[in-house]
Amino acid sequence: MTPTGRHFLQIPGPTNTPDRVLRAMAASTIDHRGPQFAELALEVLEAVKPVFGTTQPVVIYPASGTGAWEAALVNTLSPGERVVCFETGHFATLWREMARRLDLEVDLVPGDWRHGVDPQTVADKLRDDTGQRIKAVLVVHNETSTGVTSRVAEVRKAIDSTGHPALLLVDTISSLGSIEYQHDAWGVDVTVAGSQKGLMLPPGLSFNAVSQKALDASKSARLHRSFWDWQPVIEANKRGFFPYTPATNLLYGLREALRMLDEEGLANVYARHQRHAEATRLAVRGWGLEVLCADEREHSGSLTGVIVPDGYDADKIRAVILDRYNMSLGAGLGKLAGRIFRIGHLGDFNDLMLAGTLAGVQLGLVAAGVPIDTTGINAALDRLQRP
Ligand SMILES: *Cc1c(COP(=O)(O)O)cnc(C)c1O
Repeated sequence: MTPTGRHFLQIPGPTNTPDRVLRAMAASTIDHRGPQFAELALEVLEAVKPVFGTTQPVVIYPASGTGAWEAALVNTLSPGERVVCFETGHFATLWREMARRLDLEVDLVPGDWRHGVDPQTVADKLRDDTGQRIKAVLVVHNETSTGVTSRVAEVRKAIDSTGHPALLLVDTISSLGSIEYQHDAWGVDVTVAGSQKGLMLPPGLSFNAVSQKALDASKSARLHRSFWDWQPVIEANKRGFFPYTPATNLLYGLREALRMLDEEGLANVYARHQRHAEATRLAVRGWGLEVLCADEREHSGSLTGVIVPDGYDADKIRAVILDRYNMSLGAGLGKLAGRIFRIGHLGDFNDLMLAGTLAGVQLGLVAAGVPIDTTGINAALDRLQRP
């Protein structure tokens, strides 16, 4: 069918870019070594810190999130050092692969892609590591491939309970600016983030928030790094500059997106996402379908993974929904391909956008011949009736 009206971009990133952000980016690119740029950079580098819950430096790269993953590893670790990874889903698996390619020794804790990182397992691993060979614990805060959020504060407590000095590196690419996160208070050493999900920007920027302990570790870390090296960026940032040409127009957009988050208030932003996630789960269960996340404490605020009944292909359902209702939903990734679809409800979003999204999913499931209870959406609407 010929698509008409507004496209619903309900994948869990890239998310809908607000008009305010688009307008902010539609400006001339300025001299990145001039005073006007320094003003922009100094403002943005400060304003981004509260979103991470940090007073420490935040390094901004002109790169997708994958680049910031690499930066987190190469700035803190040396060849042959051991890291612990958890198989929470597709993105955790990709980060693990990267660690391996960078010549790190990876200790992988297997998982079923329905649970987050178990803090008790973290404590056990570190307690067993009497020789302190483990240098870092890698956690994906919000597994975008599954809709499961790991309890980072509890992971930190587990690490502390053992007295082990391992660094804690956390991927918040699909949680920052949508699910509560506290880099400093939770004792995270490197927080990895990206622009195109909760931060409501187009793809192209990524971030490392770094603790003092991580900065200290970077002095002796021996993995090769050049472009990703924190030190020259942090040095140049002090005067509002970058050691290379920054993504100026994305920084205009970031300034506007940070203003929007600040106007709404981060606590309200997090509550809005939780409420939309709750309404989405009510709809999914109302249809008689199963949510992928298997632990009530770990439901994601930014997306919901929906298991498709046996005998149905989730990708075919998504194709029907795109064709008939002009809406994009997230595909099942890795071993979940064809078995689930993902509803993104993060970023610039409101009650009616969610209601439209859920209506589109319900209509699409019916159109694809999936047997569901078509009163399912009512439970979500009832939820939206309440604050
Ligand atoms: C999107 C995403 C990534 C990958 O980021 P890119 O910007 O595509 O490089 C990594 N981790 C998580 C949790 C993500 O959601």
